[in-house]
Amino acid sequence: MAYTPMMQQYLQVKSDYQDAFLFFRLGDFYEMFFDDALQASQLLEITLTSRDGGANGRIPMCGVPYHSASGYIDQLIARGHKVAVCEQMEDAKQTKGMVRREVVRLITPGTHTEGKEVESGSNLFLGAAEQAPDGYGLAYVDISTGEASIRHITGGEKELVEEVRALRIRELVVSEQLQLLLNGMAQELILSLESVAGSDVDDQLLVMCPEELKGSACLLLAYVNRTQKQSLTHIQPFRHIEHTRLLSVDFHSRRNLELVEPIRGDGRKGTLLWLLDETATAMGSRKLKQWLHQPLAERRPIEARQELVAALTAEFFTRDALIELLKEVYDLERLSGRIAFGSASGRDLAQLRSSLSKVPEIIRQLEESENESLAAFSRRLDRCEEVAELLTAISDQPPLSAKEGGVIRDGFSEQLDNYRYASRNGKDWIAQLEQEERQKTGIKSLKIGYNRVFGYYIEVTKSNLHLADLERYERKQTLANAERYITPELKEKESLILTAEEESLALEYQLFTEIREQTKAYISRIQTLAAALSELDVLISFAAVAEKYRFVRPTFNDGTAISIEEGRHPVVEKMLNRQGYVPNDCTLTETSNMLLITGPNMSGKSTYMRQVALTVVMAQIGSYVPAESADLPITDQIFTRIGAADDLTSGQSTFMVEMMESQYAITHATNRSLMLFDEIGRGTSTYDGMALAQAMIEYIHKEIGANTLFSTHYHELTSLEDSLDRLSNIHASAMEQSGKVVFLHKMKQGPADKSYGIHVAELAELPAPIIERAHGLLREFEAARHEAPTAEPEQLSLFDPAGERAAAVAEAVGAARIAEMTPLQAMQLLNDLQQK
Ligand code: ADP
Repeated sequence: MAYTPMMQQYLQVKSDYQDAFLFFRLGDFYEMFFDDALQASQLLEITLTSRDGGANGRIPMCGVPYHSASGYIDQLIARGHKVAVCEQMEDAKQTKGMVRREVVRLITPGTHTEGKEVESGSNLFLGAAEQAPDGYGLAYVDISTGEASIRHITGGEKELVEEVRALRIRELVVSEQLQLLLNGMAQELILSLESVAGSDVDDQLLVMCPEELKGSACLLLAYVNRTQKQSLTHIQPFRHIEHTRLLSVDFHSRRNLELVEPIRGDGRKGTLLWLLDETATAMGSRKLKQWLHQPLAERRPIEARQELVAALTAEFFTRDALIELLKEVYDLERLSGRIAFGSASGRDLAQLRSSLSKVPEIIRQLEESENESLAAFSRRLDRCEEVAELLTAISDQPPLSAKEGGVIRDGFSEQLDNYRYASRNGKDWIAQLEQEERQKTGIKSLKIGYNRVFGYYIEVTKSNLHLADLERYERKQTLANAERYITPELKEKESLILTAEEESLALEYQLFTEIREQTKAYISRIQTLAAALSELDVLISFAAVAEKYRFVRPTFNDGTAISIEEGRHPVVEKMLNRQGYVPNDCTLTETSNMLLITGPNMSGKSTYMRQVALTVVMAQIGSYVPAESADLPITDQIFTRIGAADDLTSGQSTFMVEMMESQYAITHATNRSLMLFDEIGRGTSTYDGMALAQAMIEYIHKEIGANTLFSTHYHELTSLEDSLDRLSNIHASAMEQSGKVVFLHKMKQGPADKSYGIHVAELAELPAPIIERAHGLLREFEAARHEAPTAEPEQLSLFDPAGERAAAVAEAVGAARIAEMTPLQAMQLLNDLQQK
């Protein structure tokens, strides 16, 4: 048996959208069938029913009312699904036979621009990747703002995935071949298939793309056109982002350093973004986030930003005035997006108009500051006068829906004014008629009302019926305690009023859509303005934050030396309410650029390392830095291997993650990079871990030459200072006070001399018997070591030069080629040594 014609139509449409939930419009509902229905009913917790479809058995079905569909769509998208919205393209009443239905939009996680997911301070990227020489081209666009970028990823799929993650691209458009390669590499990533064959792409958007990367941009645009079913005028030409000009911070390091997301929890609290973001607009907040994602790696543009921050720091009156003005500027980027989509409301246009009205004043403020750089910046701001002029047509407070009327202001269109006059006049006439009828009949409660079915009517309550003038009144409707009547003259006026109203609404909607269409032509100018305003917003924020937290302007050198005086970790400092944060210097020179940091747990090692990295990042986005002074090189990449807190949830063993991150760092770092390693080897047995740590330090020293901070609790490693000339020891100082440990958080020259582990355990209030027993054991261990006296009795003396046995051990270790050993071989060696 065959399916009914409607089910056949459904199956036909569905065959083109296998990977999406098909929302099939039937009257007032969107219905889903078959597997879609089974799955959706569970995901959305809606009732599963069934329908006779002609063929054998009933077809599973579920549906949602069309007016509340968006909430359900949001839910499906948030879980990474796609939704194809299929509408009735003809009026069912005027069609014989089947209504034509078409998918009008394919909503996907990377193209969804509405809903709770779309947080105003974040970008929402859709990406596309395609093979290119030596790696991949990666194109990405934020559909809600139209910003498009393209970059070359050198390396393989791993580097590609790393970058996609770092950018927080949720959906990646790929060819079938690449899909196979990427499958399973990143679970959170949604892969969508597309091919460029036969699609035609706006060349204008590709003018800045290097030839070999165009493939990915074309793939992306083909997908956007297919899913959105319209070409989007707000998509900007792809900007080519060159790696050599940016400071690259890989996904893990970005997280470890808590640049924009905290390691634990969500939101922004505790991140660098949280500290730096005092922007006045959502655009500014997004721009700052982008800058944090892509710090610069060229002196000139960084110094240009610094100039403006300096000017805005000095000119604080101008700055305050600008902040007030920017607060009145709406999200021009998202407004442009809605104008391009054709979904902008009257209210959106009014917001655009009122935002544009602030621009002349912003320009005036910048010019009048009499500061060269600010005046120069003002010339980047486009007043967009034509748009402002166009939008004078919109009323002061338009309603949300353009179809309600009241969007176009009085006096804009003579014809519209006439309709409005007629309709208003008619309404006055009715009010007057009500008065007259009350007088004529003497019924004080008589009223004239309106409903959709009967139009205008005269209503008389039951108790007054005897007074009604039934000669003129024609009964229309009986209610429980009233009768409703009409009269010929009422009906005549009604028709005038309704026609005028209808005409007025239709004309108004037409005028509104015309203006919206005309505004489209200016989208790219509005976007340019938006970009400049958001930059200004961020720079103002930098100036305000610098002043608030006493940051200084860093200088740059062309070498690799780092010299930070009295540096601070700005976020920890803020958390401590600025009280008691202990500043620390950091000095790395061309000839001594590796620090081995020892000290007890909780003594501030990791905070110190992070503060150096944060200072570098802040400097390279153009911000001032938390220190008394800072002279920095231009760093090309930052790598970190810090903390294991977040690894627990990832399913991989902590140690494996540690090794993978180390591998990534070591294979990508250069002598212009900054590397931070916190407690490498903690995740495995002591000797194994120590061997690995030493081998890594030696390798970085010999082969890479990067600026490196390495913290460890293996005191044995501190003797490396003797053999590695560019390495020196520092330690986080602590002292004992009445049997308890006090951390000074001050970095000092030389290695740490004593482990305070047990005291820390005591601070953590471990049960007294454990603490006592540990003290006892420590005394025993130390006594055992004293039997073979050592030069430095405080250290676990694996490399003890005094004893003969120790000398033999040292020789054996010296001869071992640790870099070439497997961890197991290293352990075997250590085991042999122990036997001696
Ligand atoms: P470690 O890495 O040595 O275990 P952390 O860097 O995690 O130690 O520091 C432990 C705690 O000490 C931090 O949470 C912070 O509150 C505090 N701390 C670290 N450095 C400083 C500092 N320079 N001044 C004040 N408090 C600090």
